Amino acid sequence: MKKSTSSKILIIALALIMAFVFTACSSSSGSKEASGSAEGTKVYKVIMEPTFPPFDTTDENGELAGFDVDMMNAIAADQGFEIEFAQMEFGALIPAIEAGNADIIASGMNAEDPERQKKVDFTDTYYDSGLVVMVKVDNDTITGIDSLTPDMKVASQTGTTGADACQELADNGKVAEAVILDGFDTCVLQLKTDSVQAVIIDAPVAASYMKQQSGEFKTVGDVLNAESYGMAVQKGNDELREKLNAGLKNIVENGTFAELCEKWEMANKFEFAVLA
Ligand code: GLN
Repeated sequence: MKKSTSSKILIIALALIMAFVFTACSSSSGSKEASGSAEGTKVYKVIMEPTFPPFDTTDENGELAGFDVDMMNAIAADQGFEIEFAQMEFGALIPAIEAGNADIIASGMNAEDPERQKKVDFTDTYYDSGLVVMVKVDNDTITGIDSLTPDMKVASQTGTTGADACQELADNGKVAEAVILDGFDTCVLQLKTDSVQAVIIDAPVAASYMKQQSGEFKTVGDVLNAESYGMAVQKGNDELREKLNAGLKNIVENGTFAELCEKWEMANKFEFAVLA
């Protein structure tokens, strides 16, 4: 009797230790099982860089907010998985996915970049965009990318297609310096304080900063390129990519996507389209 009681205690103790070790191991990876009520529900880690309104920003409490946050919550609810959000520098997003430290990038990322496509897999695209040149509202010298001159500095955010465009201008001697900064908020501040003469930034994001700081900035010239934003997952993670595509399709079809576009005052890529 005594022996069986002590062996029971031993078994319980061993089970507790194993449970602890298992929990510790699983929480160190990107995704984990939900600890809450819905047993077996996946918790995916979604990462973004939050100086990219209206897609990725922070609310008055400093919490991550924006179209991408709402879209991810809607897709997760539709597909029956849970998500948690984390923020990091834009240039750190793809390395985090490659290293398995996060599961999904939802950060207004151009999915049509061949270099990125070598490193991560993208979902279907959800927004069509392009880069523009933003200047101070009273700047009459810069009327587009071709009127930038070798005495000027032009800024963009690290790891973005805008940063590539700035670097190319500097490498070709078209501008004095490509000022590559961590956040678009800092780029815009540099423009405001005349530390740079132009910022290369995505058109809808320029519109959002112009609205936030009314009468300060304008965009000039044509849109420089065509981009389309997609979510990204680790290479070969077709299971997750297919869930995201299915969720995106469903929220487009049930009207949630259109509601979110309205909420964040953005154009709706799917307004006239019927998804295959
Ligand atoms: N569209 C740009 C890119 O994909 C910028 C994205 C961002 O800063 N969030 O590089």
